[in-house]
Amino acid sequence: MINKKRVLDNFLEMVNIYSPSKNEKEYGDYLIKKLEELGLTIYLDNNFQDYSGNCPTIFAKLKGNLEGEGITLAAHLDVIEPNKDVQIIIDGDIIRTDGRSTLGGDDKAGIACILEVIKVIKENNMSHKDIFLILTPGEEIGMAGAKSINWENVPKEMKPAKNMIVVDNAGQAGLVAHTAPSKYNFKIEFCGKKAHAGIEPEKGINSIVMAGKVLSNIEIGRIDSFTTSNIGKIESNFPTNVVPDNCYFEGEIRGHQEERILDIIENYKSACENMKKEMGGEYIFSSFCDFPPLKPNDDLKFAKEFVQIYESLGIKSELKTIGGGSDSNIFAKEGYNSIIIGVGMYDVHTVEENLHTLELFKTIKAVLKYIS
Ligand SMILES: [Zn+2]
Repeated sequence: MINKKRVLDNFLEMVNIYSPSKNEKEYGDYLIKKLEELGLTIYLDNNFQDYSGNCPTIFAKLKGNLEGEGITLAAHLDVIEPNKDVQIIIDGDIIRTDGRSTLGGDDKAGIACILEVIKVIKENNMSHKDIFLILTPGEEIGMAGAKSINWENVPKEMKPAKNMIVVDNAGQAGLVAHTAPSKYNFKIEFCGKKAHAGIEPEKGINSIVMAGKVLSNIEIGRIDSFTTSNIGKIESNFPTNVVPDNCYFEGEIRGHQEERILDIIENYKSACENMKKEMGGEYIFSSFCDFPPLKPNDDLKFAKEFVQIYESLGIKSELKTIGGGSDSNIFAKEGYNSIIIGVGMYDVHTVEENLHTLELFKTIKAVLKYIS
């Protein structure tokens, strides 16, 4: 029932619409028009000014003719740069670019899947429960779009169903991710004391050395099988004849157990205290929860049902825990029970990004089968 040519034509049309984070409006307008033409009801959440974006989060609904709790399909509109003037190379079942831009298959392949599912349902008059869509901007910049949604304003009849399929996982069809870590960001700023580096260095407190002492005494990298930590930025910029009095670094800690993350933060703070006792100076420690963990709230019932759907189609399927955050972490806070399924995209977030169309077709089949 899937029209493969239509899927590919639609996908190629969409990758030609430039939609980087905070600038998805043209693509958003395109999708709103498509969804309206398909007969879906639309609600737009326009809180994108919260993060200086320009495109609403699109809620859409296709009313079902079967009773019972419906299903929500979610994907994101924005793509990773560089993504301007995408030059497509089709190599058998693989679609890639000429290597000068990302493909944007993340997540336009997910949206191509959703659109095809709706089209097949409509043209075959298939019976189904309510189908809700949430298409977000700003996912790639820390889920800014999903975070900015004002859930209280969403009209009751447009409130999405709690079981949600997020069509946005890298890797082959059959992957069903259900658990993802929480992430905390932290920043440590070191305030030393300036002095002339050649004349009286003993009067100074070198903030770069302060940072170095702390860095050499904290755990970074893989901490345990559920927890990782990374430093991504360090900054201090003084002439070499000045003992620098300011330096900071920023990092993140991810983990499936929030208590464990908080323990690590405490360890980092004690490393700062120890450094301060030894060297003097001051430090300012700040941290915040960037996104909460994603955990199934139904004992994996929904995820296992979806694995069965794949298996019934002869597609090898597995449950997975993933290391990255996505919109589903943010939706989880609102009580949504999400799975994130593979759509055949590989090497995402690089100019080598490619889409295996056979995997995309398998996922479309599975979503259709689940819905009908
Ligand atoms: Zn994505």
